[in-house]
Amino acid sequence: MSIADNIKAIDQEIARMCKHVGVPVANPRLIAVSKVQPKERVLAALEHGHRQFGENRVQEAEERWVSLKKEYPDVQLSLIGSLQTNKAAKAVELFDEIQSVDRVKLARALAKEMKQQNKTLPVYLQVNTGAEPQKGGVLVKGLSELHADSLSLGLNVVGLMCIPPSGDDPSLHFALLKKLANQEGLSKLSMGMSGDYALAAAMGATDIRVGTAIFGERDYSG
Ligand SMILES: *Cc1c(COP(=O)(O)O)cnc(C)c1O
Repeated sequence: MSIADNIKAIDQEIARMCKHVGVPVANPRLIAVSKVQPKERVLAALEHGHRQFGENRVQEAEERWVSLKKEYPDVQLSLIGSLQTNKAAKAVELFDEIQSVDRVKLARALAKEMKQQNKTLPVYLQVNTGAEPQKGGVLVKGLSELHADSLSLGLNVVGLMCIPPSGDDPSLHFALLKKLANQEGLSKLSMGMSGDYALAAAMGATDIRVGTAIFGERDYSG
C-alpha cells in the first residue's frame, strides 16, 4: 500500500467503526505524525496533498520542516511532544499549534514568546489521564487550575489532548478526556493513534494523531 492508500484507508476505517458503534460518520482532522520517518515518505504524503503534520521534538522538526515549509507554505505543524521551556521560542516560531501544554511554567513561557513574536497559536492542554509518572500531561485534578492560569496568561486554549497508557482500554481514557473537555468548555479533542484512531473518532475525537498507519514502522536504529 502506498502512503496515499494508507491515508484513504484511515477514512474507511473510521466510517466502518462509526457504523459499528452506531454514531454518525466522523471526520476528524488527520495529523500525520512524521517523527523519525524518512523524508521520502513525508514527501509522498505532501505530494498526495496532505498538509497537517505532527512532530514530537522541536529540534527534529526544525531540521525537517524549516525547509519543507518554504516549499509547502500551507503546511500546518502540530507539536505533540513534551516541550522544555528553553525551547518555547523555537516552538512558537516553527509550529502552528501546541498540543502538549501541561504545566503553568510552560504556559507562561509560551505566552511570553507568543507576545514577543506577535502570534496567537491555538494550544491544547495535555492530560495525563492514566496518571503515569513517566508521561507528560497535567493530572486530572490539576486541569482546571492549569486551564484558568493559561487563560489568564492570554493563551488561546482550544482543547485537550491525551495519550492513554499502553495496555489500558483506550475507550476509558477517551471518555474521560471528553468529559473533562465538556467540564472545561473546550471543543477540541486530540485523541487516538495508529492502534485506536477509529475508536477515538467514533467517541468524538476532533483530531487524530497517526504515524505508523500512514508511514509504516519507525526505524530508530539509524
Ligand atoms: C508518535 C506519536 C503518535 C503517533 O503514534 P503511532 O502509533 O505511530 O500512530 C501520536 N501521538 C503522539 C503524542 C506521539 O508521540
